[in-house]
Amino acid sequence: MHWPVNPQTRHNPTLLMQAEVQSIEHVFRQRFGREPALVAEAPGRVNLIGEHTDYNDGFVLPVAINRTIAAAAALAEGNTVRVFSAEFDARDEWGVAAPRRTGRREWRDYVRGVAWALLDAGYELRGVDLAIAGDVPLESGLSSSAALEVAVAGAFCAASGIEMDPGRLALVCQKAENQFVGVQSGMMDQLAAAWSRAGHALLIDCRSLELDYVPLPGDVAIIVVDSKMRRPLGETAYNQRRQECAAAAPALGVESLRNAAVSDIERLPEPLKRRARHVIFENQRVLEAVDALRSSNVARLGELMYQSHASLRDDFEVSTPELDLLVELASRAEGLIGARLTGAGFGGCTVNLVARDAVARFEAGVVEPYRAKTGLAAEMFVCHAVDGLRVSRA
Ligand code: ADP
Ligand code: MG
Repeated sequence: MHWPVNPQTRHNPTLLMQAEVQSIEHVFRQRFGREPALVAEAPGRVNLIGEHTDYNDGFVLPVAINRTIAAAAALAEGNTVRVFSAEFDARDEWGVAAPRRTGRREWRDYVRGVAWALLDAGYELRGVDLAIAGDVPLESGLSSSAALEVAVAGAFCAASGIEMDPGRLALVCQKAENQFVGVQSGMMDQLAAAWSRAGHALLIDCRSLELDYVPLPGDVAIIVVDSKMRRPLGETAYNQRRQECAAAAPALGVESLRNAAVSDIERLPEPLKRRARHVIFENQRVLEAVDALRSSNVARLGELMYQSHASLRDDFEVSTPELDLLVELASRAEGLIGARLTGAGFGGCTVNLVARDAVARFEAGVVEPYRAKTGLAAEMFVCHAVDGLRVSRA
């Protein structure tokens, strides 16, 4: 069966969704010639505040956004898994009990990895047909990988009759990404994709894995702006920051920087002192941000976001001139409440809190001047907070 996706729309989820994919059920029908039995859908996320705190046992405050990946499934006869990815216009097939790595770290590895992690946790899987499509932009820091894993895990579990709470499912997905795909990451992305609630941010204590839902104000929009710049050394620098934090904690006599006090950091050499200062204050800012949201003080939340950005720029040194420019332009734009880089840094996106009635002017105040100064066409996503994993049966 011919799949009618124009190759030019690949890697362009907006076009892809508009052009061909009316619904995931449609994709499944086209591919497998029958109806899906169920659809699992999981969102991407943006982190409102709490950057580089996850691997220091700290706090993060992600929001699941209205960009999702859906997996439609139906049990197959026999023990074969057949998968179709609309994004890549490509397929995969393996015996359900024996998923193997491709060795190329490609989309297939995320899907096979989820099956592997479920099997590894002792669950029995049945053969399924699976179709995957979505509109979370890939590799932009909105966590398409976790959305994919959680949607696929939801589909496998529902098809095989496995009941699992979303926290456990998220950890299974994290294991798939860390140990099967081979990408080191904390658990924030998978927890946000699995366990978020519409209209709320998700406070995660990365030490205890305790969660709390924090209501977001209805008159405020979250705008994500992709700077369209990646620094090639990003991964190296990320690992270097992790090592610096791992070195700072024992030097302060604590297990992780979560337990360090700012009064102690004077005895650290540079740059460890600055790195520790960022982590300690960033954790405080997350908790203050939660208080600000709970007391409807969005102006305070905005201040904390700007402070977070300055700290990531000056103390943690993970910003770029492009991200700094986007935040500076945002700080001067009308109706802007707060802005900061989001994600690991070294390129990627900013997150902006904007009064709803100022959203239309955001493009003129930020995206256009950014283009004029850098020649880069920043992409903006106006987001709202959605539920985590949803499974529906046909
Ligand atoms: P991010 O999570 O920030 O978007 P990652 O590099 O962690 O970026 O994950 C992106 C990878 O996840 C893609 O290269 C691809 O392998 C896989 N992926 C994401 N979305 C899809 C999709 N809709 N279909 C197939 N694979 C996907
Ligand atoms: Mg990812």
